[in-house]
Amino acid sequence: MRRRAFLRAGVAVGAASGGLLEAACAPALQSRPAGPVQRPLRLASNENPLGLCPAARQAVMTAIAEGNRYPRQARQALIEAIAAQHGVSADHVMLGTGSTEILQIAVQAMPPEAPVVVADPTYEDVPQYATAAGRRMERVPLRADWSHDIGRMREVVAGAGGAALVFICNPNNPTGTLTPCGDVEAWLREADARTTLVVDEAYFEFAEDPGYRTMQPFALSRPNVVLVRTFSKIHAMAGMRLGYAIAQPATIRRLRTWACNNNGNTLALAAARASLDDAAFHERSLASNRAARRILTECLGELGLEHLPSHTNFVMHRLPGEVADYNARMRERGVLVGRPFPPLTTMSRVSIGLPAEMAEFAQELRDFRARGWA
Ligand code: PMP
Repeated sequence: MRRRAFLRAGVAVGAASGGLLEAACAPALQSRPAGPVQRPLRLASNENPLGLCPAARQAVMTAIAEGNRYPRQARQALIEAIAAQHGVSADHVMLGTGSTEILQIAVQAMPPEAPVVVADPTYEDVPQYATAAGRRMERVPLRADWSHDIGRMREVVAGAGGAALVFICNPNNPTGTLTPCGDVEAWLREADARTTLVVDEAYFEFAEDPGYRTMQPFALSRPNVVLVRTFSKIHAMAGMRLGYAIAQPATIRRLRTWACNNNGNTLALAAARASLDDAAFHERSLASNRAARRILTECLGELGLEHLPSHTNFVMHRLPGEVADYNARMRERGVLVGRPFPPLTTMSRVSIGLPAEMAEFAQELRDFRARGWA
């Protein structure tokens, strides 16, 4: 194209781009595509099926214009907004590329000889990072009621002389169960200064049990307690990769030295900033989760498949056989459920989708039962 014609074409596209851009963005601005339930049913990763809240979608569109700039202001704005929501000053907060970055940092920042003490089973990222870093792992089986065995974990740490990294996931993934807050608090209050305790509250908002509460007061009062939260669950931002830690300023400063500089990309920061204020969206997410979880648990009850009490957006339930075979069959039907979580090889973790998705999943389960597969 000759230069003048090219420029003219450019001007024409520019003039039309207001309408075109709007039309192109319209689907992205809707929370969920309307229409029938889509396969595969994505029930494997404890995501929020509602999608980003509309304000976050709009914020992403606007923030694209800043994509060429380092996100210093957006980072600071989000850190301050998180701090305000938690009632702390900004120096108590650090961001992570997903809360998994914080978990990785917690492992890296510990003295290499200190063991890493976790429940079994629990969220795998800490054991995975610890193993990669050559750390000694101590896995303490969950109790019969599926809570962390805090007494046994304390003994293991004492046996190691006190210097240890402890990971407490409450509610726990993959079981969805709670550990009594009083037991955790007693430990946080009395723990040896050389014990670092990371409390992961990824599913905090979903836990509606009256006895459940955050461990934030201990993250503020004790230099060795780190609270971890994520934007991946209630905020529906798993694909945006943003999480954060709350701890004392000196602890945050120490952990930050291990973080990826300038973490938190411009679009994720903008989405998170908008989502933080959207209490109505969070209520909608909780209501949807409750309704969909009820559809699932009623079906499990009808089929006589025992399930653990879920305080999250996923449910762990029994199978008559091995989970690997069940998963493969589900996958063939276009249903993705959680991977195997050893040692629970005859249990399946299914994430809560939309109510319509769970109704469809329940039909699959009934069909599996008719075929002798569940
Ligand atoms: N902690 C727990 C308990 C989780 O279940 C997850 C994700 N499933 C994470 C942390 C990591 O989440 P993200 O990196 O997306 O914040």
